[in-house]
Parts: sequence; C-alpha cells; structure tokens
Amino acid sequence: MGRLDNKIAIITGGASGMGAAMAELFSQEGATVIAADINEENLAKISELDNVEGMKLDVSSDENWAEVTKAVVDKYGRIDILINNAGIAGKKMPDDITEQDWALMHKINSFGPFLGIKHASKYMKEAGKGSIVNTSSYTAIIGSGFNEYSASKGSLRAIARAAAAEFGQFNIRVNTVFPGVIETPMTANIGQFKEVMDMLIRATPMGRLGQPDEVAKAILFLASDEASYITGGELVIDGGYSAR
Ligand code: NAD
Repeated sequence: MGRLDNKIAIITGGASGMGAAMAELFSQEGATVIAADINEENLAKISELDNVEGMKLDVSSDENWAEVTKAVVDKYGRIDILINNAGIAGKKMPDDITEQDWALMHKINSFGPFLGIKHASKYMKEAGKGSIVNTSSYTAIIGSGFNEYSASKGSLRAIARAAAAEFGQFNIRVNTVFPGVIETPMTANIGQFKEVMDMLIRATPMGRLGQPDEVAKAILFLASDEASYITGGELVIDGGYSAR
C-alpha cells in the first residue's frame, strides 16, 4: 500500500478493462486518479471508487487534451503520471480495411497517445518530473495481424521511444507495455470462437489468457518512483506468447 501516495495520475481509457483495473489499483495505492474516457456511462461507474474522478476525454482531440490537462492542473496542481491506455480494436482481414478505418485507428491508438504526451509533458516539465506509460500490444512486436491495429501499436512504440529520448533531460520517464490477449470487454467476443480460444491458449506458454489486474500491476511499477531509472523501457506482459 502507498506506492503512489500523493500522486496525481491520468489514466486514459480508465473506465473499462485494463484502465479500470489501473484506476482501482492506483487509487488503492494512494494516488488521486483521473479516469479519462469517452464512455460517459462507464465513467459514472468508475467515479464511484474513492479517489477516482471521471473526466470525459476523446484522446484523438488536441483541444480536448488541452482542456482536460488544464482542468487537472487547475484542480490538483500537477500531473505526476499519465497512462496512455485508451484504444480501439481493429478489423481482422487486410482486404476489408479502408482508408477511413486506417485513419480512425491511427487517430485514436497512435495520435491520441502522442497528444497525451504533448500536453502532459508541458506540465511535467514545469514540475521537473513525470512518468508516462503507454499501452501498446504484442501485435507491435511479433507478426500477429497484418492490419491497421498492429500498425497503430507499432507507431505508438516508436512515439514512446522517441519521447523517452526527448524527455529524459526533463526527468520525465516514458515506458511502454505490450500486453498479450487480456480478458477485457475488447476481447470478450473471442470466447464465442472456441477454435480461436483453443489456439491462443495452446500458443501461450502459461496456458491461459491474461487478466486486467496483471497488466495494471506491471504498469503500477513502471509508473511509480520504484522505476526511477527506467525510461524507454519495454515490458511484454503476455504469458510468454511472443517468446514462443
Ligand atoms: P476496453 O475496450 O475495455 O477499454 C478501452 C477503453 O478506451 C474504453 O473505456 C473506451 O471507451 C476507451 N476509448 C476508446 N476510444 C477512446 C477515445 N477516442 N478517447 C478516450 N477513450 C477512448 O479495452 P482494453 O482491453 O482494456 O484495452 C486497453 C488498451 O490495451 C487498448 O489500448 C488496447 O488496444 C490495448 N490492448 C488490449 C489487449 C487485450 O487483449 N485486451 C491486448 C493488447 C493491448
């Protein structure tokens, strides 16, 4: 307990799945959490937790990011932690992917985190410290899905490494996690396809899918001062799937 005492943390996509698990864990560890999400219904639910405030944010809007980061600093004084976690899933087959699909995916999964870093780092620089963690995906690392989703998560990986190189001088750390298949609303439909589920489990050395809190615990470490010399770090959380 207390690993994030007095920290002010923004978690995008904080109203569902892994983001909601982080909101719960971070607040238990002493942080004040701003769960920033586009889904107002789920935001109302997550805001019932102690020390969690929901704020509506569309991560793909530059203007919206400016408003939300200013509102957080006006109310709480600073932003210690940003978790760039919001994202959308894509289509499966390359033949189905349109220019609009590609643009939307990159706008949310790659431009969104870029904007988060752009706006939060402004306040972090003033404070002389900050910690940013991005949720990419195992699909950015291994050849899993020749589609717009993998490309957007690979783009996020490059953005994160560049930001780590750029912001180390300001004592702002930028790290990235690469989850495997985690049981969240995003992947809930996989359960309907027994063959796919069996294949995924067979291909995972640990023989099971991951749980949201298992990602949240790893991100907690990277976000906290315990990881004080880790920046540009990349942590795979996939039960061994990509090592196979
Ligand atoms: P989820 O669908 O439960 O949560 C995603 C959240 O992002 C939702 O609350 C949604 O409302 C929010 N969101 C979507 N578009 C937004 C926008 N424009 N602005 C603000 N919020 C927006 O999914 P999850 O599985 O918890 O996913 C979290 C992150 O992890 C995503 O970036 C996802 O791509 C990534 N990821 C998921 C898996 C997995 O297997 N679940 C694996 C690897 C990576």
